[in-house]
Amino acid sequence: EPKLSGDFATLMGWADEVRRLRIRANAETPLDADTAKKFGAEGIGLCRTEHMFFDPSRISAVRQMIMSESEGGRRDALAKLLPFQRDDFSELFRIMAGMPVTIRLLDPPLHEFLPHREEELAEVAESLGADLATMKRRAADLSEANPMLGHRGCRLGVTYPEIYEMQARAIFEAAILIAKETGKAPVPEIMIPLVAAKKELEITRAQVEKVAKEVFAESGTTIEYLVGTMIELPRACLTADAIAEAADFFSFGTNDLTQTTFGLSRDDAGKFLPYYVDKGILPKDPFVSLDPDGVGALVKIAKEKGRGVKPSLKLGICGEHGGDPASIQFCESVGLDYVSCSPYRVPVARLAAAQAALAGGVDRTA
Ligand code: PEP
Ligand code: MG
Repeated sequence: EPKLSGDFATLMGWADEVRRLRIRANAETPLDADTAKKFGAEGIGLCRTEHMFFDPSRISAVRQMIMSESEGGRRDALAKLLPFQRDDFSELFRIMAGMPVTIRLLDPPLHEFLPHREEELAEVAESLGADLATMKRRAADLSEANPMLGHRGCRLGVTYPEIYEMQARAIFEAAILIAKETGKAPVPEIMIPLVAAKKELEITRAQVEKVAKEVFAESGTTIEYLVGTMIELPRACLTADAIAEAADFFSFGTNDLTQTTFGLSRDDAGKFLPYYVDKGILPKDPFVSLDPDGVGALVKIAKEKGRGVKPSLKLGICGEHGGDPASIQFCESVGLDYVSCSPYRVPVARLAAAQAALAGGVDRTA
């Protein structure tokens, strides 16, 4: 049972009095959300919805959705997933009780959804009324040499609009349900992943707005919501002024931003990176502590460009760096509004944010 008590709770109270940065947590399960709250998180900064799709009760509908070659087939599969997602989101809204909840629309490496084994292929073939050979061809067509640089993030939402439409519907229906249940409407922050071009955000934002209108008309209720974007590709940083015109907020995805800035796979970094750090070629592991010269420079560019267009643009970070004290110091110096980290890092982040504020926001990562 996570709980802060005694001297530790007193210390945290002092930290909260001086810190400027808000602290959110990355969470998608009720347990994580609850833990984050008990540790003092002030909201959810990243709910990775792809994690919700792997539940054994859902994965066959997910495979059906991705393997169907017709929009109708995909919509049938998505209709099965809608009630699950509505429950997922209403539970998070209920636990967070009016605090901000940032829900990121689907961002899977597609290969994790594809059926591989013969019996998986046979099952999806049967559910779609297709033959095995067609399914094998479809799986081969969708498989990529480099899934992390492939058909993921908003690229999936752009090419298969019905996916984000289902998720947006689940979010709005859940928010309205909680508003009726508690008398207090959550304000969902809907986040689009892996945006590299303003047009991608405009297209996906329009999908969300269309669904919002439909759900509001059906229910006779409206709620407030925000639509923002992950900033996790160098091109997004360099075109952040254009992107900001279509965004209510930015959240820096420094895991992917580190991967794409260094051209270094986040999944394989352990292979030679320790040697580099040991020899002083890199001062620190850039996936742990934000690299001020490359990734940090891009974050600063994005902030300047984004706030240049929208001075009040809300800025956060939700990569692993959001729980690293040196990186939090950097976030303070750049003037971000919040950091979002894993639930168990929340107390560390509260303390680090206070130390950063006391240090006057001077960048000490260098
Ligand atoms: C990121 O890229 O920093 C991020 C938060 O998203 P994910 O780790 O899910 O790719
Ligand atoms: Mg990412």
